[in-house]
Amino acid sequence: MVLAQLGGSISRAIQQMSNATIIDEKVLNECLNEITRALLQSDVQFKLVRDMQTNIKKIVNLDDLAAGHNKRRIIHQAIFNELCKMLDPGKPSFTPKKGKTSVVMFVGLQGSGKTTTCTKYAYYHQKKGWKPALVCADTFRAGAFDQLKQNATKAKIPFYGSYMESDPVKIAAEGVERFKKENCDLIIVDTSGRHKQEAALFEEMRQVSEATKPDLVIFVMDSSIGQAAFDQAQAFKQSVAVGAVIVTKMDGHAKGGGALSAVAATKSPVIFIGTGEHMDEFEVFDVKPFVSRLLGMGDLSGFMDKIHEVVPMDQQPELLQKLSEGTFTLRIMYEQFQNILKMGPIGQVFSMLPGFSAELMPKGREKESQAKIKRYMTMMDSMTNEELDSTNLKLMNESRMMRIARGSGRHIREVMEMMEEYKRLAKLWGKMKGLKIPKKGDMSAL
Ligand code: GDP
Repeated sequence: MVLAQLGGSISRAIQQMSNATIIDEKVLNECLNEITRALLQSDVQFKLVRDMQTNIKKIVNLDDLAAGHNKRRIIHQAIFNELCKMLDPGKPSFTPKKGKTSVVMFVGLQGSGKTTTCTKYAYYHQKKGWKPALVCADTFRAGAFDQLKQNATKAKIPFYGSYMESDPVKIAAEGVERFKKENCDLIIVDTSGRHKQEAALFEEMRQVSEATKPDLVIFVMDSSIGQAAFDQAQAFKQSVAVGAVIVTKMDGHAKGGGALSAVAATKSPVIFIGTGEHMDEFEVFDVKPFVSRLLGMGDLSGFMDKIHEVVPMDQQPELLQKLSEGTFTLRIMYEQFQNILKMGPIGQVFSMLPGFSAELMPKGREKESQAKIKRYMTMMDSMTNEELDSTNLKLMNESRMMRIARGSGRHIREVMEMMEEYKRLAKLWGKMKGLKIPKKGDMSAL
């Protein structure tokens, strides 16, 4: 995901600023210019980026900050907050309630992933005990009903549509009516798309909306549409009352910055993201953990949930203690690898840990990464207790590395590579020293 690159560029800009001996206007400007460049390259709309820069400068008034203020921390926090603000329109979307009938209408251009997302959305709720149903009001695209039918059947979700009827408004109204009678609590209406925005599409959407009176309209957007995102999202918003956004194909090579623009254009939050073609490649979208991840700070709240889920209860306090001490020995790395291998789907877990994501564990290459971790663990099995528990980076000299390579049947180059990885992680974990482990959703400790 190219968003990781955006995160990398922003983190580097912040790091460079942090490395400066004195933080003055020039250093701050350089940092903000770097961030601006990175956001523009990721297709975030120009005006949004400019506003962000102005806001940060207003908050971080270097002249007014007395000596002793931690300028780095204040700037870091301001950047974090502004990025969150870009993604958070300030008001939550309508949230359907289990057991109470809600109609949710999906809109978007053809190919955006609308039909796939309808099923993912239904399946997500079904797993949580809802009674969803799907209505296919897309009579424009040949095969749309077949596709929805196939997906719905696979997920055992009731569906409604017609091969004969060509009036989408009629189908939508009938479908909603039927599922209301059947006491479904989440009736999802998939509407037609077109290749490009055109009057006929918007007119049809308006009519379907009038006939079904949706409680929520979700705009589905392909993350790869780039700078066109703002205008596209705005055009949809002007025709129907878009209340939430789902961004699809976040697993691909898209720059993803369009998501930020869509939020601004619709003043509606992103509620889910699509991360693959499969039914369960669908994630709830939370602004703060997302921005934390983007800035390479890791998604600690998600990580904590995983820890509670997978790490045995009696080992949890010890691990948390180690985290807040910020000391990262090879033994801790070994234990984390063990946990990570247990936790599976490994990619998800890794991306939540500060520093573990992009480099050690690129998405789509989980198998390779898993093999790498196992290789590292084999090498660590040939280490002495002293080596595993030491925090002295100089201890691991060449002769020790030679011995480990021989003992584990690997090349010394590989041992050196592992030590580089260890050093990188140790540096990152060192930054977490004194960190209060946040509760879910609370990233203020960062
Ligand atoms: P619609 O025309 O908007 O209804 O789009 P479809 O639901 O038919 O999706 C178009 C294509 O995008 C299909 O091949 C989907 O499998 C694919 N697709 C949808 N969502 C995602 C996603 O999150 N990731 C990836 N990689 N592909 C997706």
